[in-house]
Amino acid sequence: MKRRNRCKAKLRIYPDPILKAVCEPVGDGEDVSDVIRDMMHILTNSKTGVGLAAPQAGHTKRIIIISFAGFFRTMINPRIVEHGSALVVRNEGCLSYPGIYKDIERPVWIDLRYDDENGRPQPGMVFDMDARIIQHEIDHLNGKCKVGE
Ligand SMILES: [Zn+2]
Repeated sequence: MKRRNRCKAKLRIYPDPILKAVCEPVGDGEDVSDVIRDMMHILTNSKTGVGLAAPQAGHTKRIIIISFAGFFRTMINPRIVEHGSALVVRNEGCLSYPGIYKDIERPVWIDLRYDDENGRPQPGMVFDMDARIIQHEIDHLNGKCKVGE
């Protein structure tokens, strides 16, 4: 017997037009638990994903989830307030652009602000691969993905 999967979340893949959408900020006290649930469903079912942005799960909200050393961190309304001038080139892929990998230049560190899933503001300096993943996911919130350009 097959177990029916009740979660309808589906990874959006290019050329799905939602990948070009500019996402809306999450409002004060807005319930986005369904968005986070859909994103976690996709991310935990993916073998290679280290981060996901809401439009990849079909939601145009400014939410990203990042895998940090094996556990997931949800970032609501993430924004980069400062970044380093030093740039590093590394190869990147994207769950929504399967099979495509590109060398992409990005600042090596960022200074980040976001709210956690309880609405508490979080600051953070982020470096290296974590900074790269967050920059990649924030691009998605602005309707962009450098892997697909
Ligand atoms: Zn991506």
